[in-house]
Amino acid sequence: MQLTNRSKLVSNKEQSFAERLYLPAVLKGMATTISHLFKKRPTIMYPEQKREYAPVYRGQHVLKRDENGAERCTSCGMCAVACPAEAITMESAERKKGEEGMYREEKYAKTYEINMLRCIFCGLCEEACPKEAIFLTDRQVPTEFERDDFIYGKDKLVETIDNRVDVTKRQTPEVLAFKKIPGLKHNELHKEKLNKGKH
Ligand code: SF4
Ligand code: SF4
Repeated sequence: MQLTNRSKLVSNKEQSFAERLYLPAVLKGMATTISHLFKKRPTIMYPEQKREYAPVYRGQHVLKRDENGAERCTSCGMCAVACPAEAITMESAERKKGEEGMYREEKYAKTYEINMLRCIFCGLCEEACPKEAIFLTDRQVPTEFERDDFIYGKDKLVETIDNRVDVTKRQTPEVLAFKKIPGLKHNELHKEKLNKGKH
């Protein structure tokens, strides 16, 4: 019984004199090769030239700060649980009085590490985060010579106050619609507090 139509009948017919010379086939091959000399090169001369990434590209993570500059991460561990590569580890600490401007929530990540050699850039940590604290960006993880240098701590992950990382590309219409669900008020809390402070 024939399952597909991909099979081809093999022809055993004798080769002609021209075919036995192989010259026409060689010339045809050379013509194909030479024709490529005059075509536009598809090679991107990285790093001088950079290709524009797709909006869904997932590169190096960023730990975001809120509008006030406070770290958004509350060290809940959801990202670590969601991570299929077990690449994320963290240590929690309790926010002290006077540290409200540094940490958004009462609990924060004293240490937060991602092992970039384990990470498969699946983005599940980003999806799991209830605080919009972690996002994957279009930045590439640079090459290193030592394995230890691929363990990214807060020094490499948390964005700096004066050099924010744009994650608006990650805020797809689906994500924005999700945030409008009335039950998910966690991102409204801080805005309410800010508005109260203005009055
Ligand atoms: S992108 Fe995926 S593999 Fe990488 S840290 Fe996040 S959940 Fe883990
Ligand atoms: S990045 Fe998000 S999910 Fe991970 S510990 Fe911080 S708040 Fe929780």
